[in-house]
Amino acid sequence: MSNAVGDLATGAAVLLPSAVETFLRRGEKRLFVDGDWVDPVAGATFATVNPSTGEVLADVARAGAEDVDVAVRAARGALDGPWSNMSPAARQRLMWRFADAVVAHGEELRHLEVLDMGSPIGPDPRARVESCAETMRYVAGWATKLHGDTIPNSIGPDVFSCTMREPVGVVAAIVPWNGPLSNALWKIAPVLATGCTMVLKPAEQAPLVSLRLAQLLADLELPPGVVNVVNGFGESAGVALVEHRGVDKVAFTGSTATGQAIVRAAAGNLTRVGLELGGKSPDIIFADADLDRAVPAAAMGVFGNSGQNCCAGSRIYVERPVYEQVVDGISRFARSLRVGDGLDPETQIGPVVSTEQLDRVTGYLRLGREEGARVAAGGTRLTDDGLGRGFFVAPTVLADADDRMRVAREEIFGPVACVLPFDDVDEVLRRANDSEFGLGSGVWTRDVGRAHRLARRLRAGSVWVNSYMLLDPAVPFGGYRMSGWGRENGRAGLDGYLESKSIFIDGRP
Ligand code: ADP
Repeated sequence: MSNAVGDLATGAAVLLPSAVETFLRRGEKRLFVDGDWVDPVAGATFATVNPSTGEVLADVARAGAEDVDVAVRAARGALDGPWSNMSPAARQRLMWRFADAVVAHGEELRHLEVLDMGSPIGPDPRARVESCAETMRYVAGWATKLHGDTIPNSIGPDVFSCTMREPVGVVAAIVPWNGPLSNALWKIAPVLATGCTMVLKPAEQAPLVSLRLAQLLADLELPPGVVNVVNGFGESAGVALVEHRGVDKVAFTGSTATGQAIVRAAAGNLTRVGLELGGKSPDIIFADADLDRAVPAAAMGVFGNSGQNCCAGSRIYVERPVYEQVVDGISRFARSLRVGDGLDPETQIGPVVSTEQLDRVTGYLRLGREEGARVAAGGTRLTDDGLGRGFFVAPTVLADADDRMRVAREEIFGPVACVLPFDDVDEVLRRANDSEFGLGSGVWTRDVGRAHRLARRLRAGSVWVNSYMLLDPAVPFGGYRMSGWGRENGRAGLDGYLESKSIFIDGRP
């Protein structure tokens, strides 16, 4: 059974799965603490808005410092409770069951995500959920394979020395809104695999998916307090979490400015911090590249998810002989993209998440013009064809951009590509690396030697050759320089959730 909501640009009604309707109307929007749904001490709530329509979806409980304190204590209690004695194999099985539950509720979770932050649902709502579940399954495999070493020492043959790995403890996971499902699961997975406990604070712009995930975890009978979900604002709940003495590690994904604020706040307790931050990633197209592949892929590398990707390839460097051809190609591609309500399966580009984000992105569009970039496509908010209520920005190409322009240096986090010409390899490498960030990078060429040389010399956590933004649970992801500290995914993704303890046993007579 489904219910119709809203009207799309096309005039077609969108049908919501009834489970989503039920969740929106009746589902718990309270705080999930110690295995229970509780009201915030101050009784405060905030509204979450559908960016495709500007309409309020639900009122959600808003945590303050007192609520954060209760949640951290619950996580601490769980760490000291039966959870610490649960075998790695049992935790692994639990994670598999959780992955299965996520897939079983995939359609519902994706609809909630799309309603809350607008990313296009696409022809198969389950596709993205499957890949999130794969991450959970991959990380589950590590639960039984984390171990220390037996290390020979030089003290004496009867002295035994080894290391063991232990959970770092209570994790405060603070995530943004650009992918509520993957952002939450990328944090929950290493917590469960390593035996940590957590307080998850989703972004205030997109609180719903994490609440539904908490319900699924509660149904699996995860020990109370292992995963707590407190919605709330960064300046209150977020700050309270980072400053809390009971938190052992902050796992943060979000903007670089907030990452810096978190490092300052964590300094008081020297809390461990993992950061996955922003970027202004270069995507370099050489004249010998397969342009039929490079042009659409580079375009989607920046326009996908309305540009709200930390590793968006937003600086596209193009070798001069094919510069005009690529600018034309990306511009035509940008104009061909179907922008609309995220729930329409035909939509390729949804809205940006909020009015604040809309103002920020359109502000950069104005700035680009003032700085002298040529607007080859887009350049405006979209309000025609019934899109006026939502937060839509036309996929935009700023051609003839210059490296010194702010639009070419700062993270816009919107569907805005700066396309810049270059003449030779050393020059483009220097320019690509001349950034405070270092998250992603792309190289398009048929010359394997050149691809290898660039991959080695690009200062970024990921280099994609003849592709852009490939991610895999087994392959580490993270940033150089101001794009972050530490890695997510792969074996490296678990390091930040583990302490190493050294043990000596003196067996000398
Ligand atoms: P954006 O600007 O893209 O919304 P942020 O980095 O500000 O990204 O937000 C990412 C997450 O960080 C959100 O959950 C937000 O509530 C939280 N946050 C924002 N400011 C702070 C802060 N000072 N301390 C802790 N968390 C914060």
